[in-house]
Amino acid sequence: MTHGKIANVDLVKQVNSSVVYRIIDSHGPISRVKIAALSHLAPASVTKITRALLEHGLIKEQEHQASTGGRRAISLTTVTGDFHLVSVKLGRGELSLSLYDLQGNARGQETLACPALKQDALLTVLGNRLSDYIARRAANLNLIALAVIMPGLTDAKHGQVIYHPCYPLAQVKLSEYLRQQLGLPVFIGNDIRAQALAEHYFGAARDCLDSILVSLGHGVGAGIVTEGRIFKSQGRDVAEMGHIRVTPDGERCQCGNLGCLETMVSDAALLRLAARLLEAQVPEPGVRSLLDPTRLTMTALCEAALAGDRLALTVMEQAAQHLGQVLAIMINLFNPQKLLLTGSLCEAESVLFPLLEQAIRQQSLPSFHQALPIVRAHFQHDQTIGGLALVKRALLEGELLQLIIEPKL
Ligand SMILES: [Zn+2]
Repeated sequence: MTHGKIANVDLVKQVNSSVVYRIIDSHGPISRVKIAALSHLAPASVTKITRALLEHGLIKEQEHQASTGGRRAISLTTVTGDFHLVSVKLGRGELSLSLYDLQGNARGQETLACPALKQDALLTVLGNRLSDYIARRAANLNLIALAVIMPGLTDAKHGQVIYHPCYPLAQVKLSEYLRQQLGLPVFIGNDIRAQALAEHYFGAARDCLDSILVSLGHGVGAGIVTEGRIFKSQGRDVAEMGHIRVTPDGERCQCGNLGCLETMVSDAALLRLAARLLEAQVPEPGVRSLLDPTRLTMTALCEAALAGDRLALTVMEQAAQHLGQVLAIMINLFNPQKLLLTGSLCEAESVLFPLLEQAIRQQSLPSFHQALPIVRAHFQHDQTIGGLALVKRALLEGELLQLIIEPKL
């Protein structure tokens, strides 16, 4: 990394290139004259930047008849199908891998087991699996980046893992390690936060700048997007919604505290509640739950709720009450334009969402919830989509764009 004046010159270049690229990406096909007007850059700068983007195949020229007739005009658009990236989710006991182009087309999805090894061995396994995957799937492609997403906490700026729930990666500079192993720029981030950004770029929150994604499953995760960016504090993305306390005398959470939301509405917590209710059920003639205590799954629970099963509905009501309580706090704090939900509970959308709306209505500011749609997230089962969003962001904000224009690797 360079310092002082040179770093500043680099930064100005990066910022200006990214401004031009972003305008072409969102407004293209667009003429150089219009780019100059929108960016407030001098026409000569726009010409210079677009030349570099053209040389590296990031944009292309399109000739068309000018609306006024007469000579042909040239417009610019971004090129997205020729650039590829690998996205890997370092999950709980497994690696999910996909290859994407910048348009969002996925292929080569694979899931590999990844045991909890000691740190050095784990890093070696990771590096080997990834280089093997790239050799098999992307040997002849223009690969521009690797994205690594994971549950837990990450420091995207320094490419560092702060905490992973299953692997000993705390304080590991994962981006730098993998960059050296694979020779690619590496971008890391929390999986749910990255997914919230994917919903903003490609999914159900494309039409707004402010949204919140809540993921229900193993735990409760959230991603907050404000003004088109992931909400950050102290340089890292945060939204530890699952660890907001909802019952003072609740169960012990993995974070050490009592009664966190996660202990009430994670899949395991809801199935435990259903099992308890089934056990305590006083058999009444003609009133039996559809649920089979020996085959309790989230799908069975959602199906029973949709079929009007009283016990399953009780579980849904409790889930909505606790979840709604915390969502109302989030809504009061962040005033989103859209609330997105993902996870197996969404299978009972027609039961759950109205209950949630009711809980939110009772506990948040009317002007904040009146026109707030609660919708199912577009990406429900795509484990690696967040990685695509991290790479797209690195292009739009200039960091990756600059590496493509002036490779430093
Ligand atoms: Zn907790």
